Amino acid sequence: MTTASPSPSSSQPTTFPHLLAPLDLGHTELRNRVVMGSMHTGLEDRSKDLPALAAYFAERSKGGVGLMITGGYAPNREGWLSPFGSRMATQSLASKHREVTSAVHQHGGKIALQVLHAGRYGYNPFNVSASATKAPINPFKARALTTKQVKHTISDYARSAELAREAGYDGIEIMGSEGYFINQFLSAGTNHRTDQYGGSAQNRMRLPIEIVEQTRAAVGEDFIIVYRLSMLDLVPGGQTWEETVELAQAIEGAGASIINTGIGWHEARVPTIVTSVPRAAFSWVTAKLKPEVSIPVCASNRINTPQVAEDVLSSGAADLVSMARPLLADADFVNKAAEGRADEINVCIACNQACLDHIFKRKHASCLVNPRAGRELELNYLPATTTKKIAVIGAGPAGLAASTVLAGRGHDVELFDEADAIGGQFNLAKRIPGKEEFDETLRYFKRQLELTGVTVHLGTKASAETLAAGGFDEVVLATGVEPRTPSIPGIDHPKVVNYVDVLTGAKPVGERVAVIGAGGIGFDVSEFLTHDTSPTLDLEAWQREWGVTDPEREPGGLTKGIHEGSPRSVHLLQRKTSKVGAGLGKTSGWVHRAALQHKGVEMLGGVTYRSIDDAGLHITVGADKDGKGGERRTLEVDTVVLCAGQEPRRELHDALVAAGVSTHLVGGADVAAELDAKRAIRQASELAARL
Ligand code: NAP
Ligand code: SF4
Repeated sequence: MTTASPSPSSSQPTTFPHLLAPLDLGHTELRNRVVMGSMHTGLEDRSKDLPALAAYFAERSKGGVGLMITGGYAPNREGWLSPFGSRMATQSLASKHREVTSAVHQHGGKIALQVLHAGRYGYNPFNVSASATKAPINPFKARALTTKQVKHTISDYARSAELAREAGYDGIEIMGSEGYFINQFLSAGTNHRTDQYGGSAQNRMRLPIEIVEQTRAAVGEDFIIVYRLSMLDLVPGGQTWEETVELAQAIEGAGASIINTGIGWHEARVPTIVTSVPRAAFSWVTAKLKPEVSIPVCASNRINTPQVAEDVLSSGAADLVSMARPLLADADFVNKAAEGRADEINVCIACNQACLDHIFKRKHASCLVNPRAGRELELNYLPATTTKKIAVIGAGPAGLAASTVLAGRGHDVELFDEADAIGGQFNLAKRIPGKEEFDETLRYFKRQLELTGVTVHLGTKASAETLAAGGFDEVVLATGVEPRTPSIPGIDHPKVVNYVDVLTGAKPVGERVAVIGAGGIGFDVSEFLTHDTSPTLDLEAWQREWGVTDPEREPGGLTKGIHEGSPRSVHLLQRKTSKVGAGLGKTSGWVHRAALQHKGVEMLGGVTYRSIDDAGLHITVGADKDGKGGERRTLEVDTVVLCAGQEPRRELHDALVAAGVSTHLVGGADVAAELDAKRAIRQASELAARL
């Protein structure tokens, strides 16, 4: 078994030698250092979805991934994440999984089943934990297990592993992090037991050690056991570094093959994977653990390009890198890296919009930049049977997706945009501090336009007449949106600007600002106005803001955040009385709200806009539905920024239809109220797959 830093394979001429080097695990070899980390897709929960799950993993195996880890499977009913959720507890379930494992093996990859007991995170009234406690993110209080039940649970883990082996899996991952069952035993904050599984640190770590020991005994030596270890709990009362190291060594002694990195309990108030988290922000903690054990360790979180992965590995921080979302975004990530085509990779922008946010809404996970993810059986871009001449108007996300998929299928595609650059709204998004990743999508599409041979006409305003005369078989209108101007007395005052003017720098913004509209764009603009520099580009500044520190200094690696001031004072306003930001994504909205709180932004709901004049913005807060009552205030601001939603731009539509041209609306031009890159790219890709 090798434990040294990966060394390049001599036969492989490549620019990512550490990433692509095989790893010898003794009884077996991984073909490279890429682990597809566990991510629930929603396809795990029902047997009828296993063919789709098999296709999803097969595509990643074909794409070159070394080891894939499934979403979490409970070892028993008490460990369910949600009622009737995924479980690996019977022989009949195991036999159904053969379809998944053989699909992966056909393409040379390996796959491990993750065994996850949700503990007090189980979204059901029958959940169990070390003690009778309630997680702050779950309405259901857990029941404490008896000692006998703890022992049963340990054997259920071992039984799940045996069944996984019968199902053809190459190994299992034991989920020992993110605040689930095992963490709940490890932390004195959630473990108040007085038996041999509670009290001293050694007693609290007995559960995971016995799980690994019994699992190893059940599955034999030639089976991979990955243990996902919580290296930073990021919650008060988290483990000390001494305890973490002691546990890691005991886990190795108990028979684990690989230690994977887990960062932060789900209830932690520190972001760990959203786009504003710097790339590879936690690889330093994996590097800290690596010398303490002699089995391979795997780094995780916000590693999203081959170069970032290569840097982590070549620095000696880890032996493997785990990426989950980046492999949703591009199933061919590894092959492209290996073939010198890294510039063709569709990079995950860590938006969470189509993957984790879907899972929290109990929808199947997919990917904003790759709507095929998780839908490999239903959305395919097959070669066109007849080549058509197609015009796509608008080079925002919808137009880019439509034109590249159409041209990729063999159509003759011309793309028009009146702007001098492709990108549309993404050109604005990428200017927001913490959203720099959005530029990766534009880089990807720029390369795809070249590869698929789309003829691009920038700085060109297409008219209905020229399009009708151009002999196009189809016209796709992806003309996007324009900012809405609400009717407020004084809206023409020179201090009023819209978000496009602000983000492009076309108009100056004063030091005192009111932002009208608290949707995604109002939040983004507020971030833009309250930062001088981007936190994601400076890991230390980001750690200071969120209170992330060396776990040797503070248990769990959590300290008090230090919040740097804002260059402007900002009020963020909405008319709704609901919590400001309630409509943002489940997994990222709280981060946006907290970030603006750190900057002292005043967020106000229930606002009526009365007028705008030299004195500022006059509002009433908390008036009743007839406009009566409430507190009248004047926000003495220099600038009022309009982020009040958008109107669709589809002026070409009627004239084209009247001229008899087959015309299709996609993205914001179709429904501005849902202007949303996820919907725009998916709708455009689905249309392009059909035409
Ligand atoms: P939005 O989410 O529809 O928000 C528009 C805001 O303007 C709301 O706060 C609305 O709240 C207010 N508003 C609407 N009409 C108004 C009027 N006549 N007068 C005054 N206020 C008015 O739109 P958006 O912020 O432009 O974002 C568009 C889409 O982009 C979102 O749906 C999202 O999918 C996407 N996006 C998301 C993010 C993110 O998640 N971080 C970031 C950027 C963009 P009230 O009616 O309560 O005042
Ligand atoms: Fe990454 Fe966003 Fe796709 Fe999720 S939806 S995989 S975060 S790009």
